[in-house]
Amino acid sequence: MKRMTASVFVAFLAVAMWAQGPTQFHPGFNLFSKQQDVQLGQENAAQVRKQLPVIKDPVLTDYVTRVGKRLMSAREAQESGFPFTFEVVADPSINAFALPGGPMFINTGLLKAVDNEAQLAGVMGHEMSHVILRHGTNQASKSKLIELPALLGSQMAGGSMIGKLAQVGIGLGANSVLLKFSRSAESQADLMGSHLMAESGYDPMQMARFFEKLNAQGGGRTMQFLSDHPNPDNREKAIEEESHRLPQQNYSYQTGQFERMKQAVSKIKEPKPKPLSQPQPQQQEQPQQQPQPQQQPQQQEQSSPHLNNH
Ligand SMILES: [Zn+2]
Repeated sequence: MKRMTASVFVAFLAVAMWAQGPTQFHPGFNLFSKQQDVQLGQENAAQVRKQLPVIKDPVLTDYVTRVGKRLMSAREAQESGFPFTFEVVADPSINAFALPGGPMFINTGLLKAVDNEAQLAGVMGHEMSHVILRHGTNQASKSKLIELPALLGSQMAGGSMIGKLAQVGIGLGANSVLLKFSRSAESQADLMGSHLMAESGYDPMQMARFFEKLNAQGGGRTMQFLSDHPNPDNREKAIEEESHRLPQQNYSYQTGQFERMKQAVSKIKEPKPKPLSQPQPQQQEQPQQQPQPQQQPQQQEQSSPHLNNH
């Protein structure tokens, strides 16, 4: 009898959460227009392609694009209207990052580390959610409240966003405000990521599983996804609770190309990671950083800086 009461209670709780529906998120305060997010991301992506070893392997690019497009079909991604793109970087760090407005870069280290497609979709859904919720430009807006309105409003001087932002010290390098998120932004990206996954037919719990796996493996260079960015203690639990709020779904989607991707990525030899440099105007402010080719081996620690920031 007691047991029955308990199970009725659990069932009631599940129904109550489901009835509540998924948590609603909206982008916060922002001085940028959505179009400016897109422009900034595209300019930065062009820099990334020059500075990081973006690879053109058709199997890998096609694979991440298929998973990405699937996630893009979810409601919140659709409604954002952002033009996501997906590219692979030869870098052993377990990581991925997305720039404002949609360009996403996925490390070969991440492709090698995931146990199944849903785990990759989890990381990509998380990244995509940072873009949808405009976390990068939200933070930039908050940090340069006074300077930005005039800069962003000005039509002059060729209109490079990177140039404008460099004037107020916002770059793409290590610890850039555009890619270093708060704990609450991380939680939001987890939960919205779980929505994107579920609607795409991926089990959101696989995102939690992957984070658990990284946690269990501990720190180190290859664990960049969890290093130097806030990892909410109850991350797995929060994702699980959110997944109970989602309508029942059939989590059986797969591209069918996972093994093919694994084979292709196993053949990629990653060069030693090197850090992204700051954009030009910032380098002029800090000239001592400019000529140094990467000599220190521990630079690896800081390899793709933004990758740390999930
Ligand atoms: Zn994140």
